[in-house]
Amino acid sequence: MISNDNGALQAERDKWRSIQARQKEQASTTAGRQALIRLKQLITENESAFFSALRSDLGKSSVETYASEIAVTLNEIDYLLRHMGKLMGDRRIFLRPGLKAYVGRRPYGSVLIMSPWNYPFQLALLPLAGALAAGNNCFLKPSELSSATSRLIAQLVGKYFDSEQVCVVEGDGQTAAELLKLDWDFIFFTGSERIGSIIAKRAAELGIPSILELGGKCPCIVDAASVNEITARRIVWGKFFNAGQTCVAPDYVLVEKSAAGKLIEEMKAQVVSLYGENPSQAADYGRIIGNNHFSRLKQMLNSGTIAIGGKTDQNTLYIEPTIILNPEENSILMQEEIFGPILPVITWEDKGHLLSYLVKKPSPLTVYAFCRDQELIHSLSSLRSGAFCLNAVLEHVAQVKLPFGGVGSSGYGRYHGRASIESFSWQKTYYSKSQKNDIRLMYPPYQEKHLSLMRRFRKWLP
Ligand code: NAD
Repeated sequence: MISNDNGALQAERDKWRSIQARQKEQASTTAGRQALIRLKQLITENESAFFSALRSDLGKSSVETYASEIAVTLNEIDYLLRHMGKLMGDRRIFLRPGLKAYVGRRPYGSVLIMSPWNYPFQLALLPLAGALAAGNNCFLKPSELSSATSRLIAQLVGKYFDSEQVCVVEGDGQTAAELLKLDWDFIFFTGSERIGSIIAKRAAELGIPSILELGGKCPCIVDAASVNEITARRIVWGKFFNAGQTCVAPDYVLVEKSAAGKLIEEMKAQVVSLYGENPSQAADYGRIIGNNHFSRLKQMLNSGTIAIGGKTDQNTLYIEPTIILNPEENSILMQEEIFGPILPVITWEDKGHLLSYLVKKPSPLTVYAFCRDQELIHSLSSLRSGAFCLNAVLEHVAQVKLPFGGVGSSGYGRYHGRASIESFSWQKTYYSKSQKNDIRLMYPPYQEKHLSLMRRFRKWLP
């Protein structure tokens, strides 16, 4: 039994401990801020090395690398540096006199981040920024297929970070599977649906939260009134950016039949305008990541009538920007995520049929629409998908204020900006009650009149 004096001592010690714990938590915010500053330095001081690595992995031009990998990641870091104090800070919650409460964000602890090869810089370093801002220690496993970028990231992280804060392990699926066996507090995975389900299973075994950023087939719907040069340019740019190896690229186009011919002609003109008569010579047109993906895509070229493109060169892993008209619905082109520079164009006549076709499809990351028909826009925006974009492709992903992620087969969880902090941390509730008054009503033995009093003062319970 603790005497009154001991009770006071205990209370003082508890107070001291809670101050110490809070200082430790605040220190983790400071550590997160310093880690973000170091990450920004790592990127800005080695920009040209990243340009070379991405050119070697994917034949990416420096402008494309800057826009889609470096700028997006730097914008994320700047946003987090600006807002992390407020987002991570404790929030006092007013309940009622006699009660004190606040809610604070706390880091999960050890976070495993696994990234794919198609945007090997952004998809590794952007989630890393969010995890660090929230105060976590991170283990990064980049893709073995984008080996030049992955190696560079591993070397630079070793130079700029203490290995207890950030550690990079290079390796293939086997290395990844070994890593998965370890104890983690959170797993962030970007990649295929097949591996995503392995990750989700492991997270469930560990009883930890996870985020899956997966892929799928993003449809792009065009009505006749919207077929024009701008629509064609935006679709062509979005599809053939990074040689089509983008998770949110328009996977296939569904165009109103009466305007299909015009759209194909406009897109043909745009391919020439963006990449010239011979895209194999264009400095701004990328290459396929490796032989396996090249063979997979080459096989897809047999799925229908080629309207534009179709040329390939295995030696340079080149596949020409290609448009295929009305491929069979059961062809691999229409059954699997394309993830390359091949764009099927399918025609539709009846809005009702179009919508029932789309509703049956697995939920994509994004539904794109180039439409003027308001009723159609409303129906398309109501489909189950991670995002809906009208008259634009890809660029929503680069908006730091917009959460990014999928739903259903395209994944779960969100990141980017505020959503990164929210996803990589958990909310802790602190609750304290004055000892001055104690409402007897709360305790047994209960009486009949308590019920009516409780009903009357329900809002003030407990
Ligand atoms: P992938 O699933 O093959 O590989 C992703 C990561 O998982 C790699 O680091 C790989 O080494 C690792 N891995 C491989 N085998 C594993 C195993 N058995 N256990 C654990 N990890 C393993 O995906 P990918 O081919 O690199 O990327 C393409 C896919 O990623 C496409 O489906 C694309 O749509 C999707 N993607 C999604 C997003 C998004 O933000 N939603 C972004 C880019 C790519």
